[in-house]
Amino acid sequence: MTRLWTLVALVACCAAASAQDAKPALPAPVLESLIKEPDYAKAWDLVFLAEGYPASEQELFFEQARLMARKLRFGNTSFPMREAYTFNFHFVFAASREAVSWKPGGKPRDSRLRSYTDEDGVLVTDDALADALALEVAPDVDSIVIVARFQPASAYDVSTWPKALSDVVEKPDHVRANADMPSDGKRARMPTIDPDAFVHELGHALFGLGDEYGEYDGALPASGHWEIALTPNLTTDPSGARWRHIVDSVFEGGGYYATGVYRPEQACRMRESREAKFCAVCAHTIRSIGAVEEPSEAKITSPKQGKAVEPGALLSPSVEVAWKQAHDPLYYAIELYDAAALEASDEATPLWDDYVEGHLRSFEVPVSLAHKGALTVRIFPTNYKDESADAAEVTFKLKKLAGGAVPSTTGVSGAVDPTNQ
Ligand SMILES: [Zn+2]
Repeated sequence: MTRLWTLVALVACCAAASAQDAKPALPAPVLESLIKEPDYAKAWDLVFLAEGYPASEQELFFEQARLMARKLRFGNTSFPMREAYTFNFHFVFAASREAVSWKPGGKPRDSRLRSYTDEDGVLVTDDALADALALEVAPDVDSIVIVARFQPASAYDVSTWPKALSDVVEKPDHVRANADMPSDGKRARMPTIDPDAFVHELGHALFGLGDEYGEYDGALPASGHWEIALTPNLTTDPSGARWRHIVDSVFEGGGYYATGVYRPEQACRMRESREAKFCAVCAHTIRSIGAVEEPSEAKITSPKQGKAVEPGALLSPSVEVAWKQAHDPLYYAIELYDAAALEASDEATPLWDDYVEGHLRSFEVPVSLAHKGALTVRIFPTNYKDESADAAEVTFKLKKLAGGAVPSTTGVSGAVDPTNQ
């Protein structure tokens, strides 16, 4: 059998820094690639960027980046990812004048990607600089992995990395790896001291999985429901209906909260970022990402009579909008508009909007009885690749019934005529 992995020779490229620069010029970036699929269009190309490494530590960066890559190339946990994609790896070494500060709330130093550690200990990077460096040096870019090296420099002993590193690093170990969800750029930001979190972060960046741990004691606030709707492995529905077609179990705690959010299994790599395997729902999501189809348009069946409110009550009533959908999308985006404003401009600002989980087939849309004109509800089924179907739309008016502030709907236009119900 031929060896599938080929090591592409070190290639120096790209212009060195300007001679007019008052500071000493940095050496040109250096690229090393591990190519499994030479047709880049068929591969998923991960570009690792050195951040905060001095020019003298080029080999250290390649070692550390290769170690992360090995977790994806050979690890048991990452097996579903290798079923989903064929990965190529491009390691870009670009030297920095200073390392990244691990101090929470710190400022960017003179590092290549101007990274810093925010008040919560989260590694933050100048994404525009990272994107530009990757595009300039790597032959193809599907996702970026920023590998950040922190001060103090003395804490890093090449000979002990990574096994005993946690023993010699005093402070930077609280810096948190993190990643952008797929619709936000698919970047992962990795402190060099935490290579084991790499597969967990790819779960966010490439597959849109949510964090299954609950670091806050309280319950998920109502304002946080929309974020849960965007992740296939979390739900606010205690029945676990969202993933019933994959697994029966449901456990409370996830999405950073101890209560009010549910996850599919007790253990998962999205909960224990360094050890556990992916749960059945996460593994299923990862494996099937390539087969995700564009969602079909929803068929709205009923804005029904809304909930009664007491006369004089200040609460807004709501109108239940129901719809049919052959296959669950990942989530629905739901928007409420003043119908006349939407008629005048497709760019009209919604009166209200929300994201709801893909297994739902109805939702209570809050409305105001004070609203005089017709209202339009739009529903966009959206899939795991952030592709939305055309909007399903229904327009209706609210009507006060005799004897109280009871909202009712009178159909104006749309998929159904509510007056026939
Ligand atoms: Zn999971």
